[in-house]
Amino acid sequence: MNIIMLGAPGAGKGTFSAFLEEKYNIPHIATGYIFRENIKNNTDLGQKAKSYMDQGLLVPDELVVSLVADRLAADDCKKGFILDGFPRTLVQAEALKETLEKAGAVIDYAINIEAPDQFIVDRMAGRRVCKGCGASYHLVNVPPKKEGICDVCGGELIQREDDAPETVAKRLEVYHSETQPLIDYYEKEKVLKSVDGTIGRDNVFKVLSEMVGDA
Ligand code: AMP
Repeated sequence: MNIIMLGAPGAGKGTFSAFLEEKYNIPHIATGYIFRENIKNNTDLGQKAKSYMDQGLLVPDELVVSLVADRLAADDCKKGFILDGFPRTLVQAEALKETLEKAGAVIDYAINIEAPDQFIVDRMAGRRVCKGCGASYHLVNVPPKKEGICDVCGGELIQREDDAPETVAKRLEVYHSETQPLIDYYEKEKVLKSVDGTIGRDNVFKVLSEMVGDA
């Protein structure tokens, strides 16, 4: 089962990918998380990516495409994967198609989480992530059991730098110009499925389970 999660930043791709990862036991690959880990570890890639991320811009395609191709070649992706935050441009979508074609694989579902901009802005303002394991919370919708502390690993919860309101506005602008065209792209590829991301987490889980089935 090869799945792509589409949707604006903050629409819930991470939360819903984690749900699908657990349900179908296939790896959840989030390019934003990979970049944040590289920044934390001060790698070359992290240093290159940081300047773009801090401004709410996309990291250049060439830095992302090879990273994802390498990750998809790993053994744990043989029975499937969930790509969260990739592809984000048409160039990336074409590169992914080529990578998969070489491996005799296809995308089964491109799941678009629909959410209006104002919903995104409100949600990002309350989003907190674990400094340790990257788990995502929301002050109102998905609060941790203990304030400021990750339920999973006990790490400190922080606001991502790129969740600052000015950066969110830029990220939404970039989403509309660069990433939204992928909805049409995957519609034409006949793998697009859409779900309303505003109906509450458990309702979205239900819709996703019905959508993907027992495969
Ligand atoms: P995310 O955690 O998916 O919201 O990603 C955070 C940031 O990482 C984005 O705003 C981009 O700067 C960068 N990023 C993540 N995935 C990609 C991608 N596929 N292409 C380009 N930049 C990306």
